[in-house]
Parts: sequence; C-alpha cells; structure tokens
Amino acid sequence: MCDQHAPLLDRLLFTGLLIDTGVDGLYGRGAVFEDVVERFDDFITRFGGCDGATRVRFPPGMNRALFEKSGYMKGFPQLAGTVHAFMGGEADHLQLLANMEAGTDWTGGQKATDIVLTPAACYPLYPTVAKMGPVPADGHLYDLSSYCFRHEPSKDPARMQLFRMREYVRMGTAEQVLAFRELWMERGQAMITELGLPLTVDVANDPFFGRKGRILASGQREQALKFELLVPVTSTENPTACLSFNYHQKHFGDTWGLQTQDGETAHTACVGFGMERVALALFAHHGVDVSAWPASVRKALWG
Ligand code: AMP
Ligand code: ZN
Repeated sequence: MCDQHAPLLDRLLFTGLLIDTGVDGLYGRGAVFEDVVERFDDFITRFGGCDGATRVRFPPGMNRALFEKSGYMKGFPQLAGTVHAFMGGEADHLQLLANMEAGTDWTGGQKATDIVLTPAACYPLYPTVAKMGPVPADGHLYDLSSYCFRHEPSKDPARMQLFRMREYVRMGTAEQVLAFRELWMERGQAMITELGLPLTVDVANDPFFGRKGRILASGQREQALKFELLVPVTSTENPTACLSFNYHQKHFGDTWGLQTQDGETAHTACVGFGMERVALALFAHHGVDVSAWPASVRKALWG
C-alpha cells in the first residue's frame, strides 16, 4: 500500500511515477508521469497556441562559445554543467582505466568539448535570432522546450538536476515584451487554477552567485524583473516556483546585438513552465492515482 503520509519522493518512487537512478535530482520518468507532462504540454499550447509563435526545439546541449558569451558563468557558475570527453592517446587511455580500476579519480584528464548543458530553454535562441537581423516591427514570438541542467542536487523531488522547461519568448520593444509578460501572468494563474492547484504570485530573483550576486538579486527584485507562480509541493511554508515570468530589459539584446527596426536595442521577456514541477504539484495535491483526480482536472488535461 502507498502511505499517503510518506514524503512525496518516497511515494513517487514507490508507485513508479519517478525512477531512482542513485543520484539526487536525476530520475527516470514512468509512463503515467510522462503522460501528465505531455498532457500539461498540450494544455499550455491550448492557451498559447493561437498567438502565432514560431516553434523551435534545441537539444539539451548548446554551443560552448555562445554560452561563454551569454554571461551565464558570471551569474550562475555554481549551476552550470559542461560536457567533457576523453581526447587522449593510448597511454592516457591505459591510465584512465587504471584509475577507474583503483577507484581513484579518472575524470581529471577529460577535456572540455564544444558543448555545455543548456541551463534554460531560451539560452540557445537569442544568438540564433540575432543572426537573422533586426526584429520585425511586431516583434518575435517563439515557442521552446528543452531538457535543462542545473547542478543543484537535492532530495526535494521538485529540485531536479535535469528537467524540462517549456517557454514562450518575446522580443521587441519594452511595451511589446511587457504586455506579453502581463498576458502570461494572467494566463498562468488561470491555467493553474483550472488544474485545481492553490497558487500565489510573487516577485522573485535568480540565484546569482556570491557577494556581487546578492546585489544583482536585490536589484532584480526592486525592479520587479522576475515574478514566480508558486504552488506548495513538498512544503506549505516554502511553495515551489512552477512558472516564472522574466523581463530581461536590454540584457540579451545588448549581449547579442539584437536590434529593433529603428536601430534600438531590443527588449526580451520569457515565460517558463517547469514541466516536472507542475506534474509534481498535481500528484502532491490530487494524489498519485490519476484516475481518482477531480473530474474538472482530468477534463482540463485529458479532455
Ligand atoms: P528559472 O529560469 O529559474 O525561472 O526556471 C524556469 C522554470 O523552470 C521555473 O519556474 C521552474 O518551474 C523550473 N525549474 C527551475 N529550476 C528547476 C529545478 N531544479 N528542477 C525542476 N524545475 C526547475
Ligand atoms: Zn527564458
């Protein structure tokens, strides 16, 4: 029997919704968990699908040179994951195997490849769009989704190291991107309410690294650049950010030379959906048995 009072992670593993890999924050997904993620993905499209967004999918790794230029390592070195590979000769290979056999570190000889793990679905998009020339008068709107990596191992199932982020990204004037963010803050609340989940919306900050980071974080809060839609998942006192609404001002426009028709630096904004987090919120509130979920929630997701 599945004990309703057991911690959420135990229940998810016991029922096969998530599959243990031996690493905190790295899970396999069972069929039912995946189905819920896919239904929620379609649910998002039902709200955003009529806006004419250009659908683009990048793999979960991005060009290291572009990642370096993005400035991610200035803000979040603690979260980044790089892809390293063996590039040695036969002697190095023998050494590697000997180290592995002895249980000593064998990874020191691995060299950085041209790929880093994608930290947020929108990161590979900005340099791609900047290469296409000025943003048209009515701006750009993109629909993205990617597995993302963040090195934040945790026993909290809502804090994964590899998770999916669906995003809509808007580029254009300040007015255009702020109207987009406003629209999605309204839609996001309507969506999560339709799914029978309690929510709050609050101003937030990104986890910038170090002492300088604290200044950046408070600046971000003061200017209300980031909002999060929070749902209690594993704790009522510390609800989990399931959606985020980000206004980057000219940050990415300046970084990538993204301009509007009249030569001004473009503004950007994005809405991000934490796919696993929303699925976890649904399991936490409605139970691990999807057939017993409220009819209205089942209708919203399965039609
Ligand atoms: P952020 O760029 O931090 O605003 O992330 C966008 C969305 O991804 C958030 O609103 C979360 O729902 C989700 N997310 C962020 N970090 C994690 C994580 N470690 N595990 C699962 N989902 C996450
Ligand atoms: Zn984004």
